[in-house]
Amino acid sequence: MSDQADIVIIGGGIVGCSVAYALTRRGVRNVLLLERRAIASGPTGASAGILSRCYQHPTLVAMAEHGRDFYARCEAHTGRSADFVRSGWLLIGGEAQAPHPRTAWSLQRAAGLSCAWLSPADIKTLEPRIEVEEDAVALYLEDAGYADPYSAAHALAGAAREAGAAIAEHTEVAGIETDGQGVCGVRTRTGTIATRTVVNAAGSWADRIGNMVGVTLPIETSRHQLVGLRRPSSFGPGHPVIADPANMVYLRPEGRDITIVGSNDPKEARNLVDPDRCPVGADPEAALVQWQRACARMPALAGAGMVRGWSGVYDISPDGFPIVDGPLGPQGFYCVTGLSGRGFKFAPAIGRIVASLILDSSPDPWAEMFRLGRFDAGVTIPAGVFWGGTRQA
Ligand SMILES: Cc1cc2nc3c(=O)[nH]c(=O)nc-3n(C[C@H](O)[C@H](O)[C@H](O)COP(=O)(O)OP(=O)(O)OC[C@H]3O[C@@H](n4cnc5c(N)ncnc54)[C@H](O)[C@@H]3O)c2cc1C
Repeated sequence: MSDQADIVIIGGGIVGCSVAYALTRRGVRNVLLLERRAIASGPTGASAGILSRCYQHPTLVAMAEHGRDFYARCEAHTGRSADFVRSGWLLIGGEAQAPHPRTAWSLQRAAGLSCAWLSPADIKTLEPRIEVEEDAVALYLEDAGYADPYSAAHALAGAAREAGAAIAEHTEVAGIETDGQGVCGVRTRTGTIATRTVVNAAGSWADRIGNMVGVTLPIETSRHQLVGLRRPSSFGPGHPVIADPANMVYLRPEGRDITIVGSNDPKEARNLVDPDRCPVGADPEAALVQWQRACARMPALAGAGMVRGWSGVYDISPDGFPIVDGPLGPQGFYCVTGLSGRGFKFAPAIGRIVASLILDSSPDPWAEMFRLGRFDAGVTIPAGVFWGGTRQA
């Protein structure tokens, strides 16, 4: 590992890898990414990788679509696949509670993106195996789906490495050094790397990295659990991703016959944990509840078998949207965190934003809404899509 870099990135999750990729695409070669464990070994590796784009702000819709499109064509961009699957994405709920989905629907139509508003009969035609209430409506994105976050992070890291970046795994950052001009070095157990630019992309640990230079980042970390079910052979072919606020779950297919069930229970957001002490597995009781809730929407899953349960942490900001800003504190210190359980889809756009903050005199127009100062100024980003009190995207 070299003892000097033009830009040091801390964190090898999807965001750090995306920043490394974006910087090398902008022509910066001497980039060093430091990851204390292995690429995508943290929350990125635990992610469901769902690529929806239902938000109530046109920039968020555009950024989510940028992510979907990037992963869908990851091989053309990076030479490696992100295993994107265009399964379709269905958000189903009661008509009376639908103002947020309606806004999300109209924003997508306005952006020229495919987005259908379905009646109960349409929903049944699309997916006959799901239970549909009389007052149900659904929003359907036929070009959405999911990708594999582990493959995607490695695709971005690999392409960055080929373009000149260095990736140092198993290298924990222990401190950041500053002088009168700003940041001047990053300390690891094996030595100090001289640099004038540091990107803190440490996700749920970003507040600790911020503390090293006196920058306070308002993030909390909460535990989220996923369960993998093997569908019975009688179930038939796969299904679209289903976001189901009434039952507080989302379902996404995996491979030939697996359905992953995640929780949208608002109680989970209050399940705060130390990211270093979060259990890797799922609690059997929680897994059972998620399975039962999934069966309420898709009764044929009652015949499934549970194959795996796991947990990951969300880095939650006060408004549930990313903090992307810099320089913050000392000159040359940039931060990206608080992706709040939505970061996989936004990571390609965020890489682009961070590169722009560092390299351009007038940053990317997408950058402005993610500044840290919005919390003190009371300017928060419009909420994600809520339906009956449950966050969907
Ligand atoms: C269960 C679950 C399901 C999810 N599902 C979805 C989804 O369907 N769609 C979606 O868009 N998003 C989803 N997300 C959110 C998304 O996965 C995350 O927002 C995203 O992966 C965060 O990436 P990151 O790079 O910011 O952070 P991380 O993946 O947390 O990466 C940060 C890295 O920094 C490293 N690090 C920390 N401290 C140091 C240090 N001192 N020195 C060096 N390295 C350090 C860590 O080891 C870690 O690898 C989900 C998340 C979870 C947990």
